[in-house]
Amino acid sequence: MYSYYDLLVDIGFLSRMGADVSYIGNTVLGRPIPLVHIGDYSPNQILIQGSIHAREHLTSQLVIEQIYYVLRRYGTNFGGGMYFVPMVNIDGVMLAEFGLDEVPLSRHEFLLDVNLGNSDFSLWKANINAVDLNTNFPARWGTGVQNVFVPSPSDYVGPYPASEPETQALMNITRRVFPQLTISYHTKGEEIYWEFYQREPNFSRDRNIGEILSNLTTYTLIDGTLGSAGGYKDWCIQDFFIPSYTIETVDPSYPYPIDYIAFQEVWEQNKDVPMTALNQAKAVFG
Ligand SMILES: [Zn+2]
Repeated sequence: MYSYYDLLVDIGFLSRMGADVSYIGNTVLGRPIPLVHIGDYSPNQILIQGSIHAREHLTSQLVIEQIYYVLRRYGTNFGGGMYFVPMVNIDGVMLAEFGLDEVPLSRHEFLLDVNLGNSDFSLWKANINAVDLNTNFPARWGTGVQNVFVPSPSDYVGPYPASEPETQALMNITRRVFPQLTISYHTKGEEIYWEFYQREPNFSRDRNIGEILSNLTTYTLIDGTLGSAGGYKDWCIQDFFIPSYTIETVDPSYPYPIDYIAFQEVWEQNKDVPMTALNQAKAVFG
């Protein structure tokens, strides 16, 4: 399993290979959330993030491998830049992977209550406050069809929009670097979501890029919002009018917790997504 410890080792390597490493803020438990940038600082920037959901930690390994791959294949001068937040929900990932051993004692009772007494947290999606970060963004917050309004292993929208430090950190970095396109990596389903109440011409623009990503990955492009709200992609589309995608990796037949034997296939499907996405941003925005 790919953990925060692995991430810290990798960002050390990446920094020595020419990546710029910084931090976008801290998690609830005070863990710094790494940000990796490669390329130049021209207006052509994209942002890719993984593991906003705890049990989807395979996506952190994917994002890290994508950074190595771009650096080895293209170096740091490929026209434009890429920001990566490989692990947004670090506390949740560590809880899903290691259970309460990675959580301060003062929070054990709360977490066990929310998890209905089960000390196995491998299916957990939320952050350490039991808020589902991908429902916590101020984009039609609280209107999602699967939303719940009490702390929960998944789908709890939080007490108010952007209540969580991880949500705020991702919002702040997005406002600071103004990416022209974003990709959020999730599991599972082999699907790509692109829609959140866009109007033309952005509707066609965003769907077209979605088709290109669908052809590249072989994943199904899903039209419609399907009752989604409060997600990072939703917020990016609503507030910045940029193309923004949720990519659900991993064959849906894999059960949770997802065996990392699934990784090789995910890698082959997604290794060229960052450069393809950047090229699309350049084509659209010049
Ligand atoms: Zn997810």
